[in-house]
Amino acid sequence: MKRALITGISGQDGSYLAEYLLELGYQVFGIVRREPGTMRWLEGVRDRVELLYGDLRDPQSLEVAFYKSWPDEVYNLAGQVFVPTSWETPAETFDINVGGLARILSLVERRKADTRIYQASSSEMYGNANGTCSEKTPFNPTSPYGISKMAAHRLAEAYRARGVYSVGGILFNHESPRRGPEMVTRKITRAAAGWAAGDKTKLKLGNLEARRDWGFAADYVIAMHAMLQQPAPKDYVVGTGESHSVAEFVRLVLAELQNLFDGKFANAKLEDFVEVDPRLLRTGEIYDLRADPSLARTELQWQPKVDFKTLVKRMVHADIAASGVATELSLIAGAR
Ligand code: GDP
Repeated sequence: MKRALITGISGQDGSYLAEYLLELGYQVFGIVRREPGTMRWLEGVRDRVELLYGDLRDPQSLEVAFYKSWPDEVYNLAGQVFVPTSWETPAETFDINVGGLARILSLVERRKADTRIYQASSSEMYGNANGTCSEKTPFNPTSPYGISKMAAHRLAEAYRARGVYSVGGILFNHESPRRGPEMVTRKITRAAAGWAAGDKTKLKLGNLEARRDWGFAADYVIAMHAMLQQPAPKDYVVGTGESHSVAEFVRLVLAELQNLFDGKFANAKLEDFVEVDPRLLRTGEIYDLRADPSLARTELQWQPKVDFKTLVKRMVHADIAASGVATELSLIAGAR
């Protein structure tokens, strides 16, 4: 039975990955901080995963978790993931996002050099590239977050040259009903649950024209695992190949509300539900991110299964169901 250790197991990606690895027959260990934000997403698997206390900033705690789990594979998914926060706490962002991986790599090299390491790299490393981004596109990050992810990515590469099996999965934005509420998609779908309940408060957003390549997180964890099963370690881009604007996301959400509650949201316009708050506009904004996932398709046989429209629908349904509005519509079908 293979053993996997997941940092960030209580988050969106960690919880989907834990479910997937359990399905594959893995023994799953996960690191949680002493005060994990929420264990909600782990409810379904809580009795089948072993949780260990630890923090990416604390090398001793990592050492103990490593010895207890003695993993064949480490998935480093924990991190400070929010771009605006990385401007507030750049040094902490580096300590967690770069220092955390450095501690794991050094631990593996010293203690169990055959452990394979997956590093959660990010499309934010590209910055404002023109067009789609592949593994060959140069990095040009614009925020402390993006720079920290690039540094960690390079570190994984440097250890790879020393013989450690470490890969950087360059994942484009991936969302789900478990996405953190500060990220734009979830912020919108949570607001939508309020609108469905009759709340007329307009949602404040920043740049409505920003475009992202949004996929479904549960599809993406399959690619993470596949990367660690390759004969030789290599970085891969994972995304859908399409980008959509924040405004498009809002319009699809409104269309779904119309679908569900027709009369109430007939002719619903974006301007009636959303207003731009200039304070939410970003310095170093990345205007458009779109993946070229050809390598993952050919070498990992990976393809996203959930398309953009279905993703939006699932997130809207899940937030409405969670808010307790209209449970009678049995909206939750398919959302998890
Ligand atoms: P990111 O791509 O990792 O930064 O993911 P986010 O979900 O935080 O942001 C995606 C895009 O949505 C960025 O270009 C943001 O500038 C844009 N955006 C517009 N309004 C908002 C907002 O209110 N919150 C967030 N988080 N992003 C917003």
